Amino acid sequence: MVNPSTSSLETAVTDRAIIDARHLGKTYRSGKLEVAALRDVTLSAAPGEFVTIVGPSGSGKSTLFYILGGLTHATSGTLYIDGAEFSRMSDVERTRMRRAKIGFVFQRFNLLPTLSAMGNIEIAHDIANLGASEKKPLDRVLLDHLADLMGIKGRLEHRPNELSGGEQQRVAIARALISRPAIVLADEPTGNLDTKNSEAVLEMLRRSSRELNQTVLMITHNPEAAQIADRIIHMRDGEIRSIEKGMGTLIREV
Ligand code: ADP
Repeated sequence: MVNPSTSSLETAVTDRAIIDARHLGKTYRSGKLEVAALRDVTLSAAPGEFVTIVGPSGSGKSTLFYILGGLTHATSGTLYIDGAEFSRMSDVERTRMRRAKIGFVFQRFNLLPTLSAMGNIEIAHDIANLGASEKKPLDRVLLDHLADLMGIKGRLEHRPNELSGGEQQRVAIARALISRPAIVLADEPTGNLDTKNSEAVLEMLRRSSRELNQTVLMITHNPEAAQIADRIIHMRDGEIRSIEKGMGTLIREV
């Protein structure tokens, strides 16, 4: 249930939503046991909007993340991504759409250890282009811009084990953004970082979403990190309990 005072926050962006999820439900079944992980979740996000999803462990955040990213199916409800009904696509269509439209950032940076930072970014570009009718060349100007933005310009020839955690996550973000996805889904991207690196990563993610007009949906259980968003969605027991306006920036003690 959405708090009445925040209902305008829920509906404000539906006109031109890039993510438009309606009444999503997900029930996991194992034998006779059923777990309702998601119940009647309706949310939308506009191009360039930054949304965080907060809630205690087990509240359904990851399940929602996997459904929005097309990595699992909802049991009920509909999901539109950029106007196309994601929930009704075949697996092949959904995979193609995911590669073209969505970039992922995870808590464990998931960089390929044998490749340099540059190699990791290049391979992400190649994967995003798989199945496309026309293969786009790597956008060197964007790569340069992202390397600048993420502060990794001098680190591109290094392998992940030669980089700090913060640097690895910044490479992982550049990797997610190189194909100019309309949507970036980030699952606890600062979960493995100390405060200083967390702040840097959050601010870079925020800045790149503004500059490249990318919609970011970020899961976090850190209430301070959540404030970087335009809107903060609070989940509990598989439901959206309330939606509040975020600060759009991090609050720092001076
Ligand atoms: P969160 O990310 O907020 O911790 P999850 O989406 O992981 O929440 O989990 C929501 C609920 O669904 C929890 O009760 C969890 O135990 C259950 N759940 C998650 N994944 C599975 C699964 N693959 N099989 C069965 N139950 C699951």
